[in-house]
Amino acid sequence: MDKIYDLIIVGAGPAGLAAGVYGARAKMKTLILEKGTIGGMASKTTEIVNYPGIPKTSGEKLGEVMSKHAENLGATIVRDSIRTVELDGEIKILKSRRKEYLARSVIFATGTRPRVLGIPGEIDFKGRGVAYCATCDAEFFSNQEVVVVGSGDQAIEEGMFISKYASKVKIIVLHDEGILDCNRLSAEEAFKNPKIEFIWNSTLDEIIGDESVEKVKVKNLKTGDMTDIPCKGVFFFVGMIPNTEFLEETELKLDKRGHIECDSLLNSSISGVFVAGDVREKYLKQVITAAADGAVAAVAAEKYLEEMNIYINRIKDKNVAIGFWNSLDSDGLKYLSEKEKELRENNIDDFIYVDIRKNKHLAKFFNKENIDSPELVINK
Ligand SMILES: Cc1cc2nc3c(=O)[nH]c(=O)nc-3n(C[C@H](O)[C@H](O)[C@H](O)COP(=O)(O)OP(=O)(O)OC[C@H]3O[C@@H](n4cnc5c(N)ncnc54)[C@H](O)[C@@H]3O)c2cc1C
Repeated sequence: MDKIYDLIIVGAGPAGLAAGVYGARAKMKTLILEKGTIGGMASKTTEIVNYPGIPKTSGEKLGEVMSKHAENLGATIVRDSIRTVELDGEIKILKSRRKEYLARSVIFATGTRPRVLGIPGEIDFKGRGVAYCATCDAEFFSNQEVVVVGSGDQAIEEGMFISKYASKVKIIVLHDEGILDCNRLSAEEAFKNPKIEFIWNSTLDEIIGDESVEKVKVKNLKTGDMTDIPCKGVFFFVGMIPNTEFLEETELKLDKRGHIECDSLLNSSISGVFVAGDVREKYLKQVITAAADGAVAAVAAEKYLEEMNIYINRIKDKNVAIGFWNSLDSDGLKYLSEKEKELRENNIDDFIYVDIRKNKHLAKFFNKENIDSPELVINK
């Protein structure tokens, strides 16, 4: 029989690797699966200066250190891409093209990727002038003119970065003159930058070239006028999309943008399945919050396994009574202890107390997570 892991983490970005550290440290048999670069999206940035305790590093280095840390504590990292999943049972099944992985709990830490608008020429010139990552590609456009699409934090900050290399950065903005979607400080910096020029009230209509990008057609939304702008590069920063396509056909609840829905303990809508990092909707998508999520999700998974162990060892296939109660309700406890006395005289093997506030997974398993007064379930 295939090996059953206590915890499988899908994605080896900061969220997945931090989950690996906490999972392995808690002595869970932990596997991390990664289809691309170990270190995730952060490994695309050459400079990280906002991770506490590490004043300055590259994303690649940080990914390396984090993965070593997880492996040193006992986690295994395997390169593979998960394509389909079966999450409903006690044992979760994750399938790649060549292999099936089994786990008692799963953390999805699959992150996001840049949104592709599908503008004519965008896909054709990807890697031949069309780019989505300034830190990866800006250098290729040294002393050349480039166009940036977008006006949020990422677009403006990446535009500033590109201006260190390019001779001119023309930022195409949907809004009226002076209106950007980024924070004020970045906007002020960008307005002061002599290499940056804004093209207001406009959208990118087409990317044109032969072997590589030569010019773009830009449409003025107020006048309808089309203008050709010669350039060698087009950078798109128009948002990120969660990597959850492979989960769309499952019972796992996704929001309308494709993020995996979860509660504050990072439980997804399916028992034993947890979420960490940019793949969930949140206020700040950064390395530090991804890593924090990984820690919370792994500890939550550990707690889930503890409760499932109680189920497997003390409840499943056994003649037991389970008393569900809320620890804020002392009368409930009194009622259940009287019932325990009565039932123990009646040939049950065991009586198990489940506090619906502390043993949320067991309570959910028996659909008792929202009860107002104590309830008894006789298992057999
Ligand atoms: C250019 C750039 C610069 C940035 N700079 C900073 C910065 O300076 N400081 C900062 O704090 N943050 C920065 N960020 C943000 C930071 O990178 C992210 O917030 C962080 O990487 C999110 O981590 P994550 O683990 O949630 O997801 P990711 O890092 O996206 O990792 C997810 C991983 O899951 C893998 N995966 C996806 N689907 C599957 C599958 N089906 N099977 C197997 N593996 C899968 C992906 O290949 C990926 O490696 C930057 C981001 C970018 C793009």
